[in-house]
Amino acid sequence: MNPDYVTFSKNVFIPVTNICRNKCHYCGFRRDPDSADAHLMTPDQVSVLLSKGASNNCAEALFTFGEPDELIHEALGKIGYSNFIEYVADLCRVAITHGSLPHTNAGTLSYDELRMLKPLNASMGLMLETIASVAVHKDSPSKAPEIRLRVITDAGRLRIPFTTGILVGIGESREDRINSLMAIRELHLRYEHIQEVIIQPFVPKPNTPMSNHKPPSTEEMQETIALARRILPLEVAIQVPPNLMPLHLSIPYGVSDLGGISPVTIDYINPDNEWPALEALGSCVRLRERLPIYPRFVLGNWYGAETEELISKYADEDGFRKC
Ligand code: SF4
Repeated sequence: MNPDYVTFSKNVFIPVTNICRNKCHYCGFRRDPDSADAHLMTPDQVSVLLSKGASNNCAEALFTFGEPDELIHEALGKIGYSNFIEYVADLCRVAITHGSLPHTNAGTLSYDELRMLKPLNASMGLMLETIASVAVHKDSPSKAPEIRLRVITDAGRLRIPFTTGILVGIGESREDRINSLMAIRELHLRYEHIQEVIIQPFVPKPNTPMSNHKPPSTEEMQETIALARRILPLEVAIQVPPNLMPLHLSIPYGVSDLGGISPVTIDYINPDNEWPALEALGSCVRLRERLPIYPRFVLGNWYGAETEELISKYADEDGFRKC
C-alpha cells in the first residue's frame, strides 16, 4: 500500500512539565517534583519557543506533560497559578497569540477539564498505549486502561478531534494490540472523533528499568501497522513518527501520516532520535502539510471556537495547510 502522499504537521514541541505521578518503567522523561532537573515552563519560556516556531512557519503548538496531578501545585504556585487547567488554558492563549494552533496532551483530564480546554485547542490527544494491564505500568495509576478509555470517550462526547495510539513492545501480546485497536475503533465508530492513531515503538532509555529491553522488531512493527490499517476505518490516519522508524519500512504497511515534525525543537520524549529533515523525507515520498486538526474536522467545524480565526487563515479549501 503506497498512498499518493503522506501528511505531517510542522510544529513546536513544548515539554511543559516533566513532573509526573506515574513511574512507567520505559520512561526517561519523568521527574519527581523535588528532583534537580524537574521543570514547569513559565508562559514566558513557552513564548520564547513559540516565537522561534512562528519564524519557522510552524502552525502547531504541541503541548506535552507528565501526569502531574496534585504534585504540580507547589511548582504552579511559584509561577503564580493555583489551578492547573487555568495554567494550561493560559499557555493555549499564548500559543494562539503567536499564531500557533494548540494541540494539548495533558494526561487523564476530567470531562469538565476537557470541556474547558476545547475552545482553546484545534485538537487534543491521549495515548491509550495498551488495553492490557502490563507490569511496566504497575507504578502508574493513570495508565489504567479504563481511565484512558474514559478520557477518549469524553473527548468523543465533546466532539474534540482526537489523537490516540498504542505503544508497541511494553510487555503486551499481539492479542492485546488487536484488542487495543478494536477498542479505539469502537469509540471512533460511536463518536467519529479519532483523527489519527499512533503506532509507537518502545525505545529503550538509559537509567530506566527497561534500559536493557529490546525494542520491537521491524517485522513486529510492520505487522502491527498492517493490523491497525485493517482494524481502523480508513478515515483514521495511521501515524508512525519518522524519527522512530524509517519511511520506506512503514509506509508500505499502511502509514499515512508522520505526525508533528519540528524545525525548532527536538522530540523531548525520544531525545536521541532526531527528526529527519523535511527535504530528506520529501525525497522519499510526496508530503502534504496538514494542521494539527485533520482536514475533515476543519471542513466539519469541529475546532475550538478560539482557534477559528487561525484555522481560517491557515487552511485551504480542502482543509489542509495552505501552501
Ligand atoms: S510515560 Fe508519561 S505518564 Fe509515564 S512516567 Fe513518563 S511522563 Fe509519566
